[in-house]
Amino acid sequence: CGVFGVTGMAEAANFVALGLHALQHRGQEAGGIVSHDLAHGFNSARRFGYVRDNFTKQSLMDTLPGSLAIGHVRYSTAGSKGHAQIRDVQPFFGEFSMGGAAIAHNGNIVNAEALRRELIAAGSIFQSSSDSECIIHLMARSLQRRVVERMQDALRRVDGAFSIVAMTRTKLIGVRDPLGVRPLVLGRLGDGWALSSETCALDIIGAEFVREIEPGEMVVIEDGEVLSHRPFAPQKPRFCIFEHVYFSRPDSILGGRSVYETRRQIGVELAREAPVEADLVCPVPDSGTPAAIGYGQESGIPYAMGIIRNQYMGRTFIEPTEQIRNMGVRLKLNVNRALIRGKRIVLVDDSVVRGTTSIKIREMLLDAGAAAVHFRIASPPTAWPCFYGVDTPEREKLLAASMSEDEMCAHLGVDSLRFISLDGLYRAVGEATGRDNASPQYCDACFSGDYPVAPSDRIAQGFRL
Ligand code: 5GP
Ligand code: SF4
Ligand code: MG
Repeated sequence: CGVFGVTGMAEAANFVALGLHALQHRGQEAGGIVSHDLAHGFNSARRFGYVRDNFTKQSLMDTLPGSLAIGHVRYSTAGSKGHAQIRDVQPFFGEFSMGGAAIAHNGNIVNAEALRRELIAAGSIFQSSSDSECIIHLMARSLQRRVVERMQDALRRVDGAFSIVAMTRTKLIGVRDPLGVRPLVLGRLGDGWALSSETCALDIIGAEFVREIEPGEMVVIEDGEVLSHRPFAPQKPRFCIFEHVYFSRPDSILGGRSVYETRRQIGVELAREAPVEADLVCPVPDSGTPAAIGYGQESGIPYAMGIIRNQYMGRTFIEPTEQIRNMGVRLKLNVNRALIRGKRIVLVDDSVVRGTTSIKIREMLLDAGAAAVHFRIASPPTAWPCFYGVDTPEREKLLAASMSEDEMCAHLGVDSLRFISLDGLYRAVGEATGRDNASPQYCDACFSGDYPVAPSDRIAQGFRL
């Protein structure tokens, strides 16, 4: 998901709509905006579909007045999947004795089901199936007087990944979990402030990047001033390494590093680790493009657009049901026949998950007369599900959970298949000596099975580490 908020800007909701539009790659299912103004109090609009199809209409934007607003773009990782419901769309809102608050959450709470049972037993009435709603109920039950302290209380009970943008009548609040699994940045525009999942959304409104919210930090912005709190016991951060590989936009800066440059460097590492004789390096667009450029530069094999993407389709990965995802490949990607015929192709993609995309692309390349298809993957084998906000499927559906690299190569029907090593990936994100196995610098659980926060709900359901 993507979160965005601004304060101290007239018609704040318009800025939020623009920010959410720049974060659309983080969630395409639905979006919502909450604003506050003195005449109407809190105003809210939540809609299915793209930001540009909803939050551009003057009639809707007129219902969101005020100089303080937050928003969310949703992609379902917890709660209802496939049969999405508007009640699961954020921001969520709660009314407390000291006034209301709205929250927008990116990440996934791993003890949400245990908390939900406890809260329902104690009398809470849940409106949605979302893990994020727990935070509102925990805030409602807190004995603290002030909303900020209630939020701190609530978040100390929550395990897992959260980057949150929240608001009261007068405050814009940003929080990151102690590991800092998901990104969150602070920006400035004139006298106003912005909080965003990624820097690309600051760029779109012309805001200047100030700094990242630090892991375990809460910032409270009021009357043009930013106050920093440290509500949690300090821990060594474990940022999601997959944000660098796939999830974030290539024009964003994460941890001081250009995402594009990291991805290009992954391609360079991959060319060193897994060279092959071939005529062309082609990305699976768009997610494989920067790594393919790096592979081409390092290997000297010409880079070419062997597969053309229809720009009017969304990310297949983000469509919630398998049926839509299967259709999606053909609707979205087509082979550039004139280029491919008789050529040995190095095909570069960011990840192999179920393998369904890869098989279709290999078929399309061979149909077009490719002489060989060598598959190179910009991440290590995805063998474990993510419980922190990226929608990887159950273990049984992950190709790498049950197959060796050779078995996957045979299954996909390609001439060779190689993944970047975990150390190679760490080098590409700037860790010169690779992964520190005693105390890893990133979360890489989907590749290593080393979960920095035990997924307690799932373990209770029988998931085995
Ligand atoms: P596959 O066909 O192997 O399931 O999907 C691999 C390709 O689709 C990659 O290009 C990746 O960007 C995208 N993708 C599809 N589904 C998922 C998913 O559930 N998780 C992730 N991480 N990537 C996915
Ligand atoms: Fe990121 Fe993978 Fe960790 Fe999920 S499991 S937070 S996708 S590195
Ligand atoms: Mg892809």
